[in-house]
Amino acid sequence: MTIRELAYHLKDICHYYGNTKVLDIDELKIKKRSITALIGPNGSGKSTLLKLLAFAQKPTQGQILYKGRKEYPFSSGIRSKITLLTQKPYLLKRTIFENIAYGLKIRKDTDNLEKRVKEALLNVGLDYEKFENRKWHELSGGEAQRVAMAARLILKPEVLLLDEPVASVDTKSAKLIRRASLNARQELGTTLVIASHDLQWLYSISDRQISMFKGQLFSTGIENIITQPFEKQNSKTHIKRLDDGQIIKLPPPAPKTCNAIIRKKKVFIGLEQQEESASLNQLYGQIASMLFEKKTGLIMTTVTVHDTSFVLRLNPDEITNLELHPGKKVILKFDIHDIEWI
Ligand code: ADP
Repeated sequence: MTIRELAYHLKDICHYYGNTKVLDIDELKIKKRSITALIGPNGSGKSTLLKLLAFAQKPTQGQILYKGRKEYPFSSGIRSKITLLTQKPYLLKRTIFENIAYGLKIRKDTDNLEKRVKEALLNVGLDYEKFENRKWHELSGGEAQRVAMAARLILKPEVLLLDEPVASVDTKSAKLIRRASLNARQELGTTLVIASHDLQWLYSISDRQISMFKGQLFSTGIENIITQPFEKQNSKTHIKRLDDGQIIKLPPPAPKTCNAIIRKKKVFIGLEQQEESASLNQLYGQIASMLFEKKTGLIMTTVTVHDTSFVLRLNPDEITNLELHPGKKVILKFDIHDIEWI
């Protein structure tokens, strides 16, 4: 990736709230016009990272370059280029027309204002005649989110950061917001970074998926993180107990590490138990989802083992041979030696 291709370059970022470190990123590069998905459990730092990318907050330590330049939080130059849409949209206490036209009026860019507001509303499936004079409080949650999206897209942002944009909206609004996000990249060349629990959507549109866990990034894509607590069983094995009685065997932790990952390419699926061995994990689970990945031609498969999800990629032949489908009970297998400590 050359410097000219980069939207963002983050280096040695640490962010604290009080004494608690919530982000720790050595390096992150995000390409212009790309769609990056941030995936991780609640509290893993996704919103904080998005606020830093929006220059709405300054990192406690480290540097964020935007198109090769240092930028400053809240500078007006950057605010017109980078925009963040959160789960709870912020609307001005004015009409819908005023909400959408506001940014353009500030920029004194008001040629054909009515036509542009109309188009912006249409882009998120809202009818101009019906909505232009409505007040901000006369909208459903999904409509409010769509208005907030339209108010951002009318400014033709270079970067659109979405923090759980469809988490609390109706299905129709979610569909329209998803479509408008994709249009932004296609029509405006916008760079998108999206945090969402809607994995199906993220897999289908993102160029790259980054897993986040406890403020750290795993940019190899979605990996399976095995979380604490662990118990020492003997000098060669630690274990993680699942609430349903199953155990995961792990190698002893490397110094200064506290989380373990098993990469998706090291996880296998079967229908029958193999003979027990000290180094093989065999966990009973159920297929939760199967999604076709255009990029690889493989099927991204999620298997839940009690309350933990594992992902792995399967090829279509394997799926046919084992007659796999969502809901099917399977056995996940991975070798203890393939688990890495991070
Ligand atoms: P996510 O978006 O993945 O749920 P967040 O970035 O919201 O994660 O939170 C990361 C961690 O930072 C969490 O432990 C959260 O409780 C904490 N946190 C977030 N915002 C604040 C804040 N303003 N003050 C103190 N702690 C915060």
